[in-house]
This record gives sequence, C-alpha cells and structure tokens, in this order.
Amino acid sequence: MTTLTPTLSSSTIPNLDPAIEAIRAKVNAGVRLSLDDGKVLYETEDIWSVLELAKIVRDRMHPGVAYYNINRHLNYSNVCALSCKFCEFARKKDDEGAYTRDLEYIKEQGRKAVESGATEFHIVGGLNPYLPFEYYTEMLRSLREIAPQVHLKAFTAVELVHLARIAKVYKRDDIKSGVRWVLEQLKEAGLGSLPGGGAEVFDERVHKEAFKTKIGAHEWLDVHLVAHELGLNTNCTMLYGHVDKQDERLRHMEILRRSQDQALHRLGYESDPDGYIAQGIVESEQITAPVITLNKDGAKLPTPDMSADGGYYQTITPLPFFPDGSALEDLPGPTGLENLRTLAITRLMLDNFPHVKSFWIMQSLPMAQLMLESGADDIDGTVVWYDITKAVGEGTHQETTELDLKRAIIEAGYEPVERDTLYRRVERDGSDWRVEG
Ligand code: SF4
Repeated sequence: MTTLTPTLSSSTIPNLDPAIEAIRAKVNAGVRLSLDDGKVLYETEDIWSVLELAKIVRDRMHPGVAYYNINRHLNYSNVCALSCKFCEFARKKDDEGAYTRDLEYIKEQGRKAVESGATEFHIVGGLNPYLPFEYYTEMLRSLREIAPQVHLKAFTAVELVHLARIAKVYKRDDIKSGVRWVLEQLKEAGLGSLPGGGAEVFDERVHKEAFKTKIGAHEWLDVHLVAHELGLNTNCTMLYGHVDKQDERLRHMEILRRSQDQALHRLGYESDPDGYIAQGIVESEQITAPVITLNKDGAKLPTPDMSADGGYYQTITPLPFFPDGSALEDLPGPTGLENLRTLAITRLMLDNFPHVKSFWIMQSLPMAQLMLESGADDIDGTVVWYDITKAVGEGTHQETTELDLKRAIIEAGYEPVERDTLYRRVERDGSDWRVEG
C-alpha cells in the first residue's frame, strides 16, 4: 500500500500571493520598497506573509531582543486652543475636567520619577493659550533640578510651533528661525529629545478634513529638521484609521523616510545610488539627500554619540485611531488585523528607521506581543498617568510593572532589554540605574 504524503504548493496554501514573492526578494536584499510595493502589502489577502517579511527585517536589525523602558508620562494641561476632530483629550478652559498642572505638581512628579527609578519623562499637552513661555522652561528646569538623571522627552512639533507663537518669535514665512529660538531655550533648560506626536497623516485632504487648524506636514517636518540640526533626536508617529486612506498612509511613510535620509546623510551614512524615490510628493521632493537604508545585513544603526553631528529619527510609532469621545465617533476605527498589517508595512517601508514601536497603552499588551512578531522591536514603558488616548481600562492611571513587560517580551520569544530614551542599554539595581558604555 502506498502512503500519500501531502505536499505544500502555492495552489494548496490558501491566500498565497505571488506578488509578495517579488517583494520578498527586495526585502532579502535590503532594497527600498516602492509605493506600489506598499500598495501590494496593503491589498494582498496573504497578510501572514506581510507579517513574516516585517519580522525578517525586525530580526535582522535587532536579533533576539526587544526593548522596553521605565518611564513616566506627564500631561501638563489638557486645555487646547484647537479642536481636532479625532481628539478626545482636549478641553476648553471652563469645561468640566479641564486641568493645568502647577509647578508644585510637576516637582512632585519629578520626585516620584526618581523614587520609581524612571529613566524618562514623556511630556506633552494641549496648546494652552493662557500659559506664558516661561512656564515651559521653568517646568524643564524644575525637573532637571529634582531628577537630573531622568531624560526629558518633551513637546510635539505642534506644541513647539505654539510656543514660538506665545514667545512672539513665530514667523509664518520663516517658521524655522522662531522654532530654532524656542528649541535653543528649551534645550538650555534641559530638553533632551522630541516625542513624535502631531504628525497624524501627512496629506492635505486628511489635514483639511480632520485637523485643519493644526500645523501641516511642512511645519511638522521643519520643526524636526531644526531639532536634528541642533543635535536633538526625535521620534514620529502615524495616527491612522480615521478619514485617511491606505495610499495616504504610504505617502506619509515616504515623506518620513526621505526626512530620515536627510538626517542620516548629515551623519555621513553611505547612500544607495539606485534607491527608490517616489515622484510627485512635494514634501519629499524638497529633501535633496540620497536614499540611505539601514535594513541590510550588518548595517550599523545610528547611536547617540553621533548626535554631535546632528540628531535623527529613532522610532516610528503607528497609532490606531480610537473613535470614542472624538468628533469622529461614528467611524469604526481600525481592526486588530489592520493594526498588525499597518505596523508590519511601517517596518517594511521605513527601512532607515532604527526602531518601530508598538505602544502597548493603545494596542494592549497582548496585541503588543503579536506586534513584536510582526515588525516591532519596542513596546515602550511602564507609563504612569497617560491621558491622551485610552485603550486599556477606564481611567488615566495606566501603569504596568517591569515584570509584566519582561514577561510579555519573553513569551513572545525575545530577550527583554531595558533601554533609556536614546536606546542605550540600562543596568539596574532597584531604583538605581546607569546606562552601559
Ligand atoms: S490633537 Fe492636540 S492640538 Fe488637536 S485638539 Fe487635541 S490636544 Fe489640541
């Protein structure tokens, strides 16, 4: 009697898409993917191959490890002059629940950060029209005094343009000079790097429809460009799943990776002469740097000691839109699979970003574990009092323990590595810590 052994071929595996194989060859060779490749990755039914390709890149860049940090979030005020449609955080001054933290509160947070051994403060808030510029420099100075070891990652590009306005140094036709002055003052007061919020999706249609009074792509990029020139590292986000379309997300990714080309070019990275550049994307065309990728075997990732020559983007965090409580709450928001796919595509397209983060607060810790298998190498921190968008639980006190984060990473098959804000390894003994090297 003959036993038949089942064999796997493309006709017996459901949903295997041959178009993915051409992309696989590019991924294996570390070649930059085109916008058309991105479209295939979004449209294919073979989502599992998309996730697998992203894992190949993630494992090549960060073999065997996944990062977390011990941090505290500080939302200093939710009073905001704007009313972006997707925002559930902002309040007007006299609204119920509106708050602005005074310096005593901020100092208390500084003391708690030291007690808990935090390595980072993540500080963001609304565009509060009632606070003077000095409030922000005093906030940083106070934290620097009380918690000198704790890195201050503070203020999105949108807030920094607002600060230029309230400091009366904002110039519509020359945003860079006003923002440069603001960043110099803040750096002097203790600012260490910039978070990535406020980017949303770089597209004029989306901008007009969902956040038309907020700064657009040009201004956002200008702020990060000036920060890089001043030697500050920055981060970026993509808030997706509201009125945006998939091709607009890909355009957003192209603009960001071109902006990173520029930052890495300043640091002396070698260019890829045959690298792909999308045509017809205005913000991207303004950047003249050659294509520089970091996803090849053996590529050296940028390190903080290079920041004397200029800063760079460290991390991209794709953020799913949560409709509840926003002016767009009739929209469904993205599904779990869409979140996984978008994260994987972000890893594949942003070939010159050292890190891709799954922000567990918005994705949930179980989802963050799946994302470590689908392109992410970082799940962020222990996070206390996160007020912007809540996916987990009802309140604003969203804290997890270091043990939970480590357990989640180990279960996903990686060695947990505590990092500081600049992705240096941390050696820890309780609340005492130091960075390696
Ligand atoms: S997203 Fe930011 S700028 Fe827009 S309303 Fe909310 S806090 Fe204000």
